[in-house]
Amino acid sequence: MRLIFLGPPGAGKGTQAKLLTEKYGIPQLSTGDMLRAAVAAGTDVGKRAKAVMDAGQLVSDAIVNEIVSDRIDSPDCARGFILDGYPRTVPQAEALDRILAGKGISLDAVIELKVDEDALVKRMENRVAETVAAGGTVRSDDNPEAFKRRLTEYREKTAPLSHYYASTGKLRTVDGMASVDTVTAEIGGILA
Ligand code: AMP
Repeated sequence: MRLIFLGPPGAGKGTQAKLLTEKYGIPQLSTGDMLRAAVAAGTDVGKRAKAVMDAGQLVSDAIVNEIVSDRIDSPDCARGFILDGYPRTVPQAEALDRILAGKGISLDAVIELKVDEDALVKRMENRVAETVAAGGTVRSDDNPEAFKRRLTEYREKTAPLSHYYASTGKLRTVDGMASVDTVTAEIGGILA
């Protein structure tokens, strides 16, 4: 099962992707997580990505295309994977098509979580409050200003991917404002 999750930051992509990893026994490949790991490890990629990420802007296509292509080659991706946060631009989607074709594999579905943007800012604030209450560390780009920039980046650069994947017949749209369980059930129905 090879899937992509589309949707603005805070739409619940990560939550749903995690549930599917358990169901299908395939990994969730979050480029955000991979980049944050690179920043934490102080690698060259991490050093180049940090300022861009903190500003809520997009890291270069070359960097993310390469980390995804390498990650897909890992043995744990043999039965499939869930891409979360990638592709984020039409050029990245085109690059992914080439990467997958080069490996002789293709996508099964692209699931888009549709959400109300105003409600997302509230969700982000709740996520920060919950993380702080649980004694966790808040992401350096989880503040209202950077979050709004991430939403703008999404609207301008990532939203056009719906049309891109609709034209391939692989796009499935789900109401991301529903409860986590309802969204999970709907995705389960799509993939059954
Ligand atoms: P996320 O955890 O998916 O919200 O990603 C956090 C940040 O990592 C984004 O705001 C970008 O700066 C960077 N990032 C993650 N995925 C990508 C991608 N596919 N293309 C460019 N930048 C990305």
